[in-house]
Parts: sequence; C-alpha cells; structure tokens
Amino acid sequence: MNVAVIGSGTMGNGIAHVFAQHGFAVALIDINQPALDRGVATITKNLDRQVTKATLSEEDKAGTLGRIRTFTSVAAGVADAELVVEAATENVDLKLQIFRELDQHAPAGAILASNTSSISITKIAAVTKRPAQVIGMHFMNPVPVMKLVEVIRGYATSDEVTARVMDLSRRLGKTPTEVNDYPGFVANRILMPMINEAIISLFEGVAGVAEIDTVMKLGMAHPMGPLQLADFIGLDVCLAILRVLHEGLGNPKYAPCPLLVNMVMAGRLGVKSGEGFYQYTAGSKDLVVAPRFAK
Ligand code: NAD
Repeated sequence: MNVAVIGSGTMGNGIAHVFAQHGFAVALIDINQPALDRGVATITKNLDRQVTKATLSEEDKAGTLGRIRTFTSVAAGVADAELVVEAATENVDLKLQIFRELDQHAPAGAILASNTSSISITKIAAVTKRPAQVIGMHFMNPVPVMKLVEVIRGYATSDEVTARVMDLSRRLGKTPTEVNDYPGFVANRILMPMINEAIISLFEGVAGVAEIDTVMKLGMAHPMGPLQLADFIGLDVCLAILRVLHEGLGNPKYAPCPLLVNMVMAGRLGVKSGEGFYQYTAGSKDLVVAPRFAK
C-alpha cells in the first residue's frame, strides 16, 4: 500500500519511519531537499538505535529505508497514494492550503488524514470535495515509541474510512482510539489544562518547578512532571493549543497562564530554545531548573 507523508519534521519523519518499517511504500514530502535530508537522517539514526538494541535487523533497517522515497512536489508525491498523512507545521491557513492541493492531486479514493494537535478536522475537511474521507490521525511524539493513535472523526467522516484508519493503525503496532472532533480532541483537552494548572501553581507561588514536577511524577506515577513535559512539547505549542481550547470552548477555565504567555514572548520555548522551566545544555542529561526559577 502506498502512503504519502507531508512534512518531514519531528512528527513526519517518525510517521514515515513506522509506516516504512511495517512494509508500506512511503512518499515523504517537504518544501525543500535539506528538510527531507534532515528527516531521512533522523529516521536513519532512530533505525540505528533499534539495531543497536537488537529490536531490528540490519536487513530490516535497509528494507525500511528502501521503502522511503522523497519529494519536494506534493502533486508528484501523492499521485499514487492510498493514504496521505499530513504532518506539516501547525498553522490553519497552511493546512487548508495543503488539503486543497491534496484534494486536487491525490487519487479520488485516497484517505486524507491530518496529524494536527488542535486544528478542527471538520474545518480541514470542508475545503475538500471528499469530507467523508478526511480524518485525524494524531500520533504521539516520539512516533516510533508511543503506542497511541488518536483517531479523530470529523463531522462528515464516514464509518468505513474510520474503520480503515483504525485497522491501518493496528497494522503499525499502535493502539488506535476513536474520538470526536471537538477542540483539543481528548489528549490535549485533558493534558493542556493540567500543564496550565502546573504553570499557574508556579506563578502563584504554590511550589517551585522541581516540587511541582516531583509531586506529579511520584504522586501520580507520571513518567515526566507537567513542567518538564511542557518544555519537551514546546511552550509555544502549549500556548497555541490552550488558545484553541479557550476560543473553541469559550470557557475562561482554559485561559493560558500569563507566565506561559510571557515565556513564549521572551522566546523561552523549552528544550528547543535551550531554556523553559529547565535549562538544557547539549550533551547533558541532568535536569537543571532554569536560573529564573532556581531557589
Ligand atoms: P516540525 O516543525 O518539526 O515539522 C513540520 C515540517 O513541515 C517541516 O519540516 C516543514 O518544512 C514542513 N512543511 C511546512 N510547510 C509545508 C508544506 N507546504 N508542504 C510540505 N511540508 C511542509 O513540526 P512537528 O512537531 O513535526 O508538527 C507537525 C504536525 O504534527 C503539527 O500539526 C503538530 O501540531 C502535530 N503534532 C506535533 C507533536 C509534537 O510533539 N511535536 C505531537 C503530535 C502532533
């Protein structure tokens, strides 16, 4: 089966990796060759890690890489696709434009899926002539490791397309979970208010960064505290999703904490900028609270 993946960033390269590893022919599409080269280099590095851990053979690694072709043209990349998974930058106008293009160039029977974290599947579907074939396929980061696929049914998504996407997700070794299309779906509707509440607790001086994360790690058996997780996801991404919840559900309980807004304005975005609630130094795995929050 032919699958096209749009975007070769953090999520797109992971999605291409798992499809190719499970025998699907993958067309990986991005706006330029350097972005594609970075995506393929990441896939290669992650496959090497699997080989080192003896969870994948050298032969399967070569087979996986051999099933991935790269394209800078959407029209060429999706020409023979039966499923397209869009994992481009989280921007509504960009996604609407991409789906118009996909509708034009992908075969009439192709399913068009989006990996969006927060944009309405119903809205995306409405710009195509095939809304029954548009669906959310929300993988978790890192894609090769995380088992969940949140399968999001838009207002018009058909039962048949939902069943096919649930089945395809199982063929990737994932556990698909069907949810309806409302702001934040289920994962982020529950996760982001928890992260926001952790930031509000810090903002109001209830406890420090390490204390809040320790309570949630040891008390709730979470593998990472909410502030560390926010840094990992990216504080700009957390803020954007909270805004979608706040606007989409119209409830003040989703209003982003002013501290989060300030940190994003100051460019303190978490791991990717080197500092958020913690400070990140290349090559170090130590978790060091950022100077601003150090006691
Ligand atoms: P990213 O910035 O790492 O990658 C996005 C990629 O899309 C880039 O390589 C960019 O060049 C490419 N792109 C932009 N415009 C394009 C176009 N017109 N055609 C083809 N490629 C284009 O972003 P990401 O973190 O991988 O996020 C991608 C999607 O996955 C977003 O919708 C995001 O909300 C969602 N998501 C992200 C995470 C996460 O933890 N990062 C988790 C779940 C879902």
